[in-house]
Amino acid sequence: MNNYHIDTKCIQSGYEPKNGEARVLPIYQSTTYKYDSSEHVAKLFDLEEEGFFYTRLANPTVDCVERKIADLEGGIAAMCTSSGQAATMVAILNICNVGDHIISSSNIYGGTMNLLAVTLKKMGIECTFVDPDASIEELQGLVKDNTKLVFAETIANPSLVVADLEKLAKFAHSNDLPLIVDNTFATPINCRPIEHGADIVLHSTSKYMDGHAVALGGVIVDSGNFNWDNGKFPGLSTPDESYHGMVYTRDCGRAAYITKARVQLMRDMGMAPSPNNAFLLNLGLETLHLRMERHCSNAMKVAEYLEQHNQVLWVNFPGLKSNKYYDLAKKYLPKGVCGVISFGIKGGRQAAVKFMDSLKLASIVVHVADARTSVLHPASTTHRQLNDQQLADCGISPEMIRMSIGIENVDDILNDIEQAFRNI
Ligand SMILES: *Cc1c(COP(=O)(O)O)cnc(C)c1O
Repeated sequence: MNNYHIDTKCIQSGYEPKNGEARVLPIYQSTTYKYDSSEHVAKLFDLEEEGFFYTRLANPTVDCVERKIADLEGGIAAMCTSSGQAATMVAILNICNVGDHIISSSNIYGGTMNLLAVTLKKMGIECTFVDPDASIEELQGLVKDNTKLVFAETIANPSLVVADLEKLAKFAHSNDLPLIVDNTFATPINCRPIEHGADIVLHSTSKYMDGHAVALGGVIVDSGNFNWDNGKFPGLSTPDESYHGMVYTRDCGRAAYITKARVQLMRDMGMAPSPNNAFLLNLGLETLHLRMERHCSNAMKVAEYLEQHNQVLWVNFPGLKSNKYYDLAKKYLPKGVCGVISFGIKGGRQAAVKFMDSLKLASIVVHVADARTSVLHPASTTHRQLNDQQLADCGISPEMIRMSIGIENVDDILNDIEQAFRNI
C-alpha cells in the first residue's frame, strides 16, 4: 500500500470507493454473488480471476477489513475468522498434520492453552510448552524432526510476559520453522511483530481491534516472508488434490500460506465472520490508534498508583521500571504496552473477591481490552480449567486480579479503585 502513518491507515486503508459509491464501507449482507456466464464462475473457482462467489470464502465487506489489517501489520494478506480461537486453530492446522509437533511459550491465553494441550493433542498434534525466557540453547533442545512451528504471544494474556520476538524468530528460522505470534494485546499500533521476524501474526479482534466488546472475531496475517518450500511443509509444496492439484508455493508465490488457509481450511471448516461483524470491526479499527494511546496512558497511571499502595502486594505491568519485562517492552512496545494490568492484593483470594465486588465504575466481566474498565479473577474464571501446576506455568496466582483499564477519565478510575480498597 502507501506510506501513510499507521494512524491514517486505521482510517483510510482497505476500502477505496469509486466515483459515486458509498463513502463508508458498506455491509454486503449477501451469501452469494451473481455472474453473467458460467465460464466466469469457473475462472473464480480456479483462482484465475479475483472476485466473490460465496461468503464462506470471501465477502466484499470482510475483504476490505482484511486488507486494512494486513496493511496495519505490514503483511501481504489477511484472512478474518469468526473468532480468535478459530484464527489460532486455522493458523496451526494450515501447516500441521497428525503426527506433527509444536513448540509454544507456556505463557499464553487460557483458551489457546486448552487448544494446544488438549484438543490438538486429540487430533494427534503434540505441543511442548516452554518457559518464555528460555535461552536459544534450551529451545534448540526441544526441536524434533516433526516440529512445524513456534508459537508465542507478544504480550501474554494474562501474565503480561513480553516475548523476545527477535530471539524466537532467530531460533525458529535457524530450524526452518515459522514463528506464529498472537498480537492481540499489543495491536499493530504498539507492535508490528513482522518487523521483528514473525512470519504469521494473528489476533482475537474481539479485544482492542473491535474495542467496544460488540463482535467476536479473529484474523490471520501472512507476512509472505517464510519459505514454505523447504521440505517440511508438503501440504504447501505438493499438489492439493482437493483443489485440483494446486501447488500453493508454486501457484500463489508469497501468498501460499494465506491462500491455502482460505481455499482449503476455510472452505472445509467454515468459521467465516459475518459481514455485519466485519463492519463493526472496521468501525473499531478506525479509532484503534486513539484508543490505544488512552488505554496505555491510563494503565500507566493506574499501575503507578497501585505500585505505591499499601494494600497491594505486587503489580505486574511491563511499563513499570520494576517489571522484569521492562526492557523488552521498551524495545518492542516503545509507544506503550496495553491497557491490561495484573496485581496481587493483600489478604489473598478473599480480599480479591471483596475488592472486585466493591468496584462501582469497573465491572466484573469475562472480557478484556475494550473501552470500559473491567476486572476479572483469572483463577476462578477464565483459567479455571487449568490445574495448579498449569496455572503456575501460565503465571497465575490465587490472589491475582486482572484489570483491563478502559478509556474513561483516569481520575474516575483511580477514585473507584481507592474506594474499593477502603471497603476491604
Ligand atoms: C481472547 C483471546 C483469544 C481468543 O479469542 P476469541 O475471539 O475470544 O475466540 C486468543 N488470544 C488472546 C491473546 C486472547 O486474548
